[in-house]
Amino acid sequence: MFEDKDHPSTDLGKLGEFGLIRHLTQHLELRQPTTLEGIGDDAALLAIGDTEVAVTTDMLVEGVHFDLGYAPLKHLGYKAMIVNLSDVYAMNMQATQATVSLAVSNRFPLEALEELYAGIALAGKIYGVDVVGGDTTSSNKGLIISVTAIGQAPKGTAVRRSGAKPNDLLVVSGDIGGAYLGLQVLRREQEVFKVNPRHQPDLEPYSYLVERQLKPEARKDIVELLGKLEVRPTAMIDISDGLSSEILHLCESGQLGCRLFEDKIPLDPSAQAVCEEFNLDSTTVALSGGEDYELLFTIRQEDFPKIKGNPSLTVIGHMAEKEAGAQLVTRAGEQIDLTARGWNAFGSAGE
Ligand code: ADP
Ligand code: MG
Repeated sequence: MFEDKDHPSTDLGKLGEFGLIRHLTQHLELRQPTTLEGIGDDAALLAIGDTEVAVTTDMLVEGVHFDLGYAPLKHLGYKAMIVNLSDVYAMNMQATQATVSLAVSNRFPLEALEELYAGIALAGKIYGVDVVGGDTTSSNKGLIISVTAIGQAPKGTAVRRSGAKPNDLLVVSGDIGGAYLGLQVLRREQEVFKVNPRHQPDLEPYSYLVERQLKPEARKDIVELLGKLEVRPTAMIDISDGLSSEILHLCESGQLGCRLFEDKIPLDPSAQAVCEEFNLDSTTVALSGGEDYELLFTIRQEDFPKIKGNPSLTVIGHMAEKEAGAQLVTRAGEQIDLTARGWNAFGSAGE
């Protein structure tokens, strides 16, 4: 429709998600002195009096980010909040308010949307976040949920993706890979159900992984923990697209390289077992899976004693000079280039 000789049309797949954002926003100028940070971090940062305010938006689209065949609406509402709160915590800040916008087709009855809002309300309650507005409109097909989260912290608290230095330690919270594996389990059950609708799935052995996919949590507690331990990360990001993609963002933002040690990557024991069952390589899953909503950050070496032995935090490597490149050191001691095999909204590898 857009193609003619004078108006070429470029396939979005060629740009990839980040290339597209860069392309579309390259000519936008920042004019307000209160804008501390615009596009490019987990959240934008505004200076308001003695506080810094974070603003971030994420959208979940039916058929792209979720399938109502296996995602209960209550969990979906909860998750829509979590993915946004996670971006605020990734700035080392606490989330305070959110707005929720819906585009919904008339195939949804009121009761379904009540369920969705029960999940939204629950996340608000657990994370201490007020829902203060939004927008509601109809959609021709399916459900779209867009949440904007707002966070706040005293001036100078925010931690950006940039700011790490060579030799800073690379640290991740919790364990990773679980959400992707949970999705594989759910998809398999859905296929079995299609063939045999009387099939009663036994998800019990997979409950941790399925929960990581359907009802993830955001790491508000880690921001609190770091405050208590008096550790201020030098750079931070949340893991939405996969560990390797997020590590590369930290490298790119800080003009750095890194070394990630394969044997240090934290996996839940059930994740290991399901990798074997599905014949998947656990390192590939951890690097490329995504949706874990853990925090990935760098700390100065001097701060290591403060986090040492904490079961919620794992040192997985360190930053390096840019020239050293971003390297994965395998269990066999081999070094291979890290590539962003994380999520790509428009590429053939994406979903
Ligand atoms: P995250 O994975 O942390 O949610 P994204 O990859 O979605 O971040 O976005 C990267 C950056 O680009 C963010 O700063 C985001 O605000 C910005 N961004 C994304 N899409 C757009 C858009 N359509 N217009 C302007 N900025 C955008
Ligand atoms: Mg993020």
